[in-house]
Amino acid sequence: MITWGNIRIEKAAKKGQEEVYSCVQCEHVLGPTTEDWKKYALVNKAPLSKAQPLHLATHSGRFALREFYCPNCGTMFEVQMLATEEPNVETFKLL
Ligand SMILES: [Zn+2]
Repeated sequence: MITWGNIRIEKAAKKGQEEVYSCVQCEHVLGPTTEDWKKYALVNKAPLSKAQPLHLATHSGRFALREFYCPNCGTMFEVQMLATEEPNVETFKLL
């Protein structure tokens, strides 16, 4: 078993020997490690001003925060700042 933040990587007994990503807090299975776990997470898109003091925040709308949460318990997994139209960035990939 390997953990990365609130993500656990393990072989799931329920799914044979397939390796899956799961939530460290509630053990909810996010999906197989052959896919990006973000496909199975809840996503909240928020303006950059959420993470910056208002007087420093940019209001262009060109960039935004993407917050990824466990769909079962709401634990936050990761936050990315990306261009609004940019696809999700795969944080890590098992080799
Ligand atoms: Zn969870």
